[in-house]
Amino acid sequence: MLSDDDILAAVRRGLGAAGADDAAFPAAGARITRHLLVAGEIVRCVETRTEGTAFHAGTRDLSDLPEYDDLDRYPIPAPADPGAARSTLRLVRRGSVAARACSTCTNGRKPCARCDGAGDVGCRTHVPCSGCEGRLCCLACEGTGKRAREAADRPQAETAARVRCRKCGADDVACGKCRGAGQKKCGVCRGTGSRTCPDCEGGGTVSHDFCAGTGRYVEWTEGVVVREPVVDTVEESSGLPARAFGWTNEADAWGRVDHVGEDAFPPHDTATGLGGGTGLTKATGLDPDPGNPGSTGSTGNPTPDLSEVAARLNPRLSRRDGEVARRVRVRYLSLARVTHDDHPHRVYVVVPRRPAPRVVTVRSPRRAWRLAGLAVLVLVAAVAVSRLLT
Ligand SMILES: [Zn+2]
Ligand SMILES: [Zn+2]
Ligand SMILES: [Zn+2]
Ligand SMILES: [Zn+2]
Ligand SMILES: [Zn+2]
Repeated sequence: MLSDDDILAAVRRGLGAAGADDAAFPAAGARITRHLLVAGEIVRCVETRTEGTAFHAGTRDLSDLPEYDDLDRYPIPAPADPGAARSTLRLVRRGSVAARACSTCTNGRKPCARCDGAGDVGCRTHVPCSGCEGRLCCLACEGTGKRAREAADRPQAETAARVRCRKCGADDVACGKCRGAGQKKCGVCRGTGSRTCPDCEGGGTVSHDFCAGTGRYVEWTEGVVVREPVVDTVEESSGLPARAFGWTNEADAWGRVDHVGEDAFPPHDTATGLGGGTGLTKATGLDPDPGNPGSTGSTGNPTPDLSEVAARLNPRLSRRDGEVARRVRVRYLSLARVTHDDHPHRVYVVVPRRPAPRVVTVRSPRRAWRLAGLAVLVLVAAVAVSRLLT
C-alpha cells in the first residue's frame, strides 16, 4: 500500500509539477481515501451422496465398484482441482447384491399377450373395395343382387366406367374393381380369417422386458456420490463504483492469491495472513510498497492489503453444505482516491504500478452532476423556446 506522501508525489508528477513541488498540490486540503479492488472467484467443489436400489437385467459383475458400509462415512479424497467438471462415483453397499432368477417368465420368455400364446390372431376375411369404398358398388342393387325399380344416380364427380354387375346382372352399373360385390377377399389372410400374430411372429411367446429376455436380474443398494463445482464470482471495489476496474489494467501492480484447501483463506494464525494451514497458498505481489520500493516499511504493516482482502472475502467464505474443497483465486489492488480543495472538479486515482504509480484523472461526481444539470437546463430552455415559436 502506498503512503500518503507517495500518493501526493504521484499526483504532483501527474500534474506535471517539477519534483515534489508542494506548492502545486499542498498536502493541506488534500483528502486521500483508499479502496481495495478485489476480483476473481471462489470455486467450491460441492458433493451430494444419495443411496437407492439399483437394478440390472441379466447378470452383472459388480466387483469393479467400490464397496461401502456407511455411505456418509465412506472416505473419498478431496479433488486436486475444486473446479474440476462434474463427476459421479457409484458404489455398492457391502452385502446388498442379490442375483435372482426371474419368477414371472420362463427363461426370459412369456406368453404373447396379443395372441394369448396361440401364435395367430383373427383377421377380416373381406375388406371394402378400394374402388367404390363409401359409394355405390352397384347402381342397381347396391351389392344385394336384388335390383331396385329405378337405378340410382352415379355418385358426383365419378369418371370411372361402370361394368356389368356380377350380383344382379345389370349392364353398366357396377364398380369396375369389385363388379358389384362392394368388397374383396382380404389379402393378408387370403380370406381365411386368421393371420400370424405380428407380436410373436407365430411363436406364441415374447421376450420378457423386465429381465431383458435373460430370465435373471441383479438388485443391490447403490450409493451415488456426485461432485460438481460451484463458482462464486468476486468483484468488489470497496466504495468505488464498479467502473473503477476500468481505470486499471494488467500491467498494474496487482497482488494475487491462489489458495486451494478446505481451510479458510487465509489462515488466521499467521502474522501475514499467509502460510501455515494445510492448503496450498500462493500469493505474489506482497511487496509492502510495490509502487515505491524506496519507502519500504513506511506504513509499518507488511501486508495490509492482503489482510483487507481476507476481511473482504470473509463473509463469502462460510462452508457450504456438501463442500469438500475450495479454491480462492483473486487479484487485488489498492487504489488511492485523492481530492483537493484547490482542484474541486477533479478526482485523482493513484494506481500502484512498477516502477512508479500512475495517476488516472476522473471528473469529480459533483462536476459531473453540475454538467448534467446544465444539460437539463439547456433542454428545458430549448423546449420552452420551441413552445413559444409554435
Ligand atoms: Zn402372439
Ligand atoms: Zn347389382
Ligand atoms: Zn367396388
Ligand atoms: Zn384377413
Ligand atoms: Zn423375466
